[in-house]
Amino acid sequence: MKPLLRSFASATTLAAVLLVAAAAPAASIVLDYTYAGGSFFSTATANGVKARSSVQAAADYFSTILTDSLPQVSRPSNYISTPPGGGTPLTYSWTWQARFDNPSSGNEVLISNPTIPADEFRVYVGARDLPGSTLGVGGPGDFTSSSGGSLYTPEQQAEIQAISADFSELLNNRSQGAGNFGAWGGMLSFDTTSNWNYDHTISPTGGQNDLYSVALHEIAHALGMGTSNEWNALVSGGKFTGPNAYAANGNSQPSVTGGHWANGTTSTVFGSSTSQEAAMDPTITTGTRKFWTTLDAAGLADIGWDVEAPGLPGDYNSDNLVDAADYTVWRDSVASGGVIGSYAEWSVNYGRSAAASGLAVPEPTTGVLLIIGACWGAVGMRRKSVI
Ligand SMILES: [Zn+2]
Repeated sequence: MKPLLRSFASATTLAAVLLVAAAAPAASIVLDYTYAGGSFFSTATANGVKARSSVQAAADYFSTILTDSLPQVSRPSNYISTPPGGGTPLTYSWTWQARFDNPSSGNEVLISNPTIPADEFRVYVGARDLPGSTLGVGGPGDFTSSSGGSLYTPEQQAEIQAISADFSELLNNRSQGAGNFGAWGGMLSFDTTSNWNYDHTISPTGGQNDLYSVALHEIAHALGMGTSNEWNALVSGGKFTGPNAYAANGNSQPSVTGGHWANGTTSTVFGSSTSQEAAMDPTITTGTRKFWTTLDAAGLADIGWDVEAPGLPGDYNSDNLVDAADYTVWRDSVASGGVIGSYAEWSVNYGRSAAASGLAVPEPTTGVLLIIGACWGAVGMRRKSVI
């Protein structure tokens, strides 16, 4: 019985730690399948369920490492002006529309006056037959806004102007301050005709494109990586001048290609010392998985995100290794009602260690390279035979 008692005590301690972490304000990537289209993400199919789970795991990763507080996005309450001498009240009002490409068609979507809750970064997810060899596209959402009405006094006008100024900051960069990216959300779309590894709990086999890896990459584009004014402001002479990326790249400004790090840029898996090609370079080798790296995280920080290095996710017994013992901790926590982590988190990180090794994936020496293209609002991963 001793091991059981020790295990229970350990789980209780971990639960307390996780509760503290959960109390901190943090951006949350919330996936929305309203415009999913077709069967790719259908919950009636095994692959659709796996696909959703993979994109969710990628979204959860960013929700874990991003600690920004994001204000609610909604239109201000109407401003009612009453005349100084009494009389008919006048109304001034504001409206806005979230604008993005429908992920299942590419056509523009306009949603009038949505409310995006505090800390939510909403990402519309879907799939369609993307042109050519494009694997996926992703980018931040846009908006339109307008206001109008009547008022009586200069004081009322000044108050209305102040509300308008705050609303403009909220829509333009989620009130994150100059130089910091912010938005209500964005969109992602995946190609319906590519050969996918839908299952994020297993590594892709040869010839399969890894949905989890592509989801990580495209969500980062939705978060402004390579797709925002804040990113572009830090690119000069083919180099990325952000101080965090400079430090993460060995005190050297990393080269950039469009909205990506230069092809072949390497870093270390974020939170570990495992060397890996950066997630946000333009290529990924078919049949392999790529995780988020230290340089990728530095790029996010440079465009204004608050990024926290992860503990080793899935390491529920804190022995710096994700293994069967962590599964046992998770399973026991479910049985006891105080759930620690998740099966998905454990399974995707199975085999990783904090010190060195990383997931046991094959060396990316063979296979077809994928080229990831970039343009505003539609940043794609492409397959192309390079070697
Ligand atoms: Zn890209």
